[in-house]
Amino acid sequence: MIIDITKLEVGTTHVAESFSADGLDFDYRDYHLADDWRLEVDIHKNSRAVIQMTGTIRGTVQVYCDRCLKPFAFPVEQSFDICMLPVPPDLQAHDLELGEDQLNENYYVEPAINLKQIVREQIILELPLKMICAEDCAGLCYKCGANRNETVCDCDLSDRDPRWSVLLELKKKMNENN
Ligand SMILES: [Zn+2]
Ligand SMILES: [Zn+2]
Repeated sequence: MIIDITKLEVGTTHVAESFSADGLDFDYRDYHLADDWRLEVDIHKNSRAVIQMTGTIRGTVQVYCDRCLKPFAFPVEQSFDICMLPVPPDLQAHDLELGEDQLNENYYVEPAINLKQIVREQIILELPLKMICAEDCAGLCYKCGANRNETVCDCDLSDRDPRWSVLLELKKKMNENN
């Protein structure tokens, strides 16, 4: 859903929107969205067309444990605060890229708010870099590849051979690329 900023009234507009997992075109690692997503947002526009958005998104992402490679559901409930400013007429696109003091300000050129894009970005921001299914996840045996949360293998793990961690990394990468 795209909101035309020029048609938005000055003041606060409340938007509540559901997005189907398929409709969000989510593309990040090999994760996929497990269910529909709910967005609640207050969009405040002032007389200078400065936009302030305060809201939350809720849903579940199907992810993979980085330690044992098992899929699991990761619930997301993310609050956000986003400011969008119209590009000042005297500012060029070039200046926008370079201006360090403006890093925290999102200028918009097209007077439009893309809610889908905001949801996608907020989901990714909320996903930890290292995804672990449980804090005590024992991971995979680096010798036989068994999931040590589920089975106890007979491998002697006292002589960790660095070559096996390379194989494990490979296995992980293959999983990510599937
Ligand atoms: Zn795990
Ligand atoms: Zn083993």
